[in-house]
Formats: sequence, structure tokens, C-alpha cells
Amino acid sequence: MIDVRSAGAKGLGVFAKKLIPRGTRIFSERPLLTIHGHDASTLYPAVKLLSTKDRDAFMALSSFRDRETGFMRWSVVLAHTAQNTISSLLGGLVGKKAFSPPNKRNSLNDHVEALSIFRSNSFNISPRLGTSLFPKIARLNHSCLPNAQGNFNEPLGRFNVHATRDIEADEEVSLNYLPETGALRNVRVDKLSRGYGFDCVCPACDMDGKRGKDGEEKRLAMNEVLKAFVERPMTGDAADKEAEIETMKAFIDLYERQGIAGKELSNLYLKASEISIGLQNFKDGLRYAAQAAKLDRDTFGEDHPDYKQSLEIVAKCTTLMVQD
Ligand SMILES: [Zn+2]
Repeated sequence: MIDVRSAGAKGLGVFAKKLIPRGTRIFSERPLLTIHGHDASTLYPAVKLLSTKDRDAFMALSSFRDRETGFMRWSVVLAHTAQNTISSLLGGLVGKKAFSPPNKRNSLNDHVEALSIFRSNSFNISPRLGTSLFPKIARLNHSCLPNAQGNFNEPLGRFNVHATRDIEADEEVSLNYLPETGALRNVRVDKLSRGYGFDCVCPACDMDGKRGKDGEEKRLAMNEVLKAFVERPMTGDAADKEAEIETMKAFIDLYERQGIAGKELSNLYLKASEISIGLQNFKDGLRYAAQAAKLDRDTFGEDHPDYKQSLEIVAKCTTLMVQD
């Protein structure tokens, strides 16, 4: 279904060999390595325990990271911790230099290298489940207008990547490394550059292109809607809910028009459903819940707990509709 090959300045990338329909599970991978909390000290011993095959797969990721673009991918949560760890390791080395055995430096370099590879390629699953590395999925590049989304399926113990829209043959498969919050270009560029070490050249970041310009205008307008909602005086009555649903609709409209589909949009649908139900508008409540369930099925798959939860909300809304 996919090919790993050169993606120009980005280094290697993952490409569709043929049309991949929306909802297709492109990857399903178990973690190779996991770090819990901020304890990066467990990583190097874990790398040493890997089988030769797995360690080779892990080490192969370094050449990917070392592209001239300085392409990096790390979990936002881990970034500072890993930096602190490296600083303290180096600090320790300098302090004990006179007493260090000759091979100490190599072992430290190995450790820093392993940390660097891990940091560049891992995904932060959740505070409870930790940060994990999936060597195949790590090959996916970033786009602010991605055509795929990754999610961890806890009962399966696997990280799955699904197509969030139809992906044409030869098209690159991409993920959004940042949570989709409707952020403007300068915010995204800054986060990607500081957190991941590259400049985004996706269609949303190309301000010479129509899609980039239109998208930026949409995001700006949406940020105004959000600002107005946050700043408006709360009345404590249904008018608050009406204002909230209008704000949700502005977000939903942006995502739909830009072709952004995934968990963020499904969360907005669920929120819009909840507010509609609160306003006794059961028809809209059911419509939004059904949209969330459809999106969750495509993004997560029928075996994911979030999809099952969305189906339960649809069932609840249907009951309310019937009773109304
Ligand atoms: Zn971008």
C-alpha cells in the first residue's frame, strides 16, 4: 500500500502506492520502546536489550534525523526533559573528567545518540501510557493539512494510522505533529521550528498559494470569533449556550473547509451535540453525534473505544429524539 522513499528536502517520506481510501488503516504498530513520565534514564538500558533486528531498526532512524534540514520529531512533553537530561549528563562528565575511564565518553555519546533518536521520532501517547517509538510510523512527515491521523488503541496495544481522506497514488502520507487548534501560521511555524527543528512548507504554510492564503484568513476570522466568545459578558442563560454553539460552528466550518479531519473535529462535533441537546435541539444533537461517530470510525476504526463511545452518544440522542 505504501512506499518509503525520498521526499526531497524533508528526507525520507511515506508515499501511497495506489489510492488509499479514507478510513483505511495504513499502519498498525506495537511500540519498540516506551519511556514513562520524565524518566529518560531507562531508555539506554532498554535500547541495549533490544534484539539485533530491532536495534538496527531503531538505529536506522538516525540517518533520517541527520538530514541537512535538521528534520526532528519529538514529543513536546519530553523535549525539555531530554535536554535537561543531556545537560546533566554532560555536566556530570565535565565534573568527573579526571576520574572517568577512557570509554566513558563513548558510552555517553551512545546514550545521547539513543536519546536523540528517541526524542526525534517518538509520540507522546498520554501521561499515563508514556512516550513510545514506532519505527515504521516515525517515517511519516508533518503537514498542517494532513491526510492521516495516528492514535493509540489501548486494548490492542497498537498505534494505528488511518487515512482521514482519500490519498491519491504517489501522494505523500502525512500527520500533523501539532494538535489542531486553528493556530495561525506564525504560531505553527514557531512551534515546529523550536520543537521539531524544521520549517513547514505544507500548502497551509505557503502564503503565495491560494489554499494557504484562504486558510489563514479563515483561521484569523475564527480566532476573532473565539476572542469575542471569551470576552463576551456571561449571562448565565441560554444565550451563553447559543454563543458557544456559534463558536463551535465556526471551528467546525474551518476544519471542514480546509479538509482537516481527525479527533479534534470529532471532539467539536461531540461538543456541538452536547450543547444542542442542552438547548433541547435534539435534531442537531443527533446530527452532530452521528458526524462524530462516522469520523471516529474512519479515524480510529471500529475496534477503538472512542468509536464505541460515540456510538453510545448517537444511541442516547436517538432515544431523546424519539421521546421528544
Ligand atoms: Zn504547515
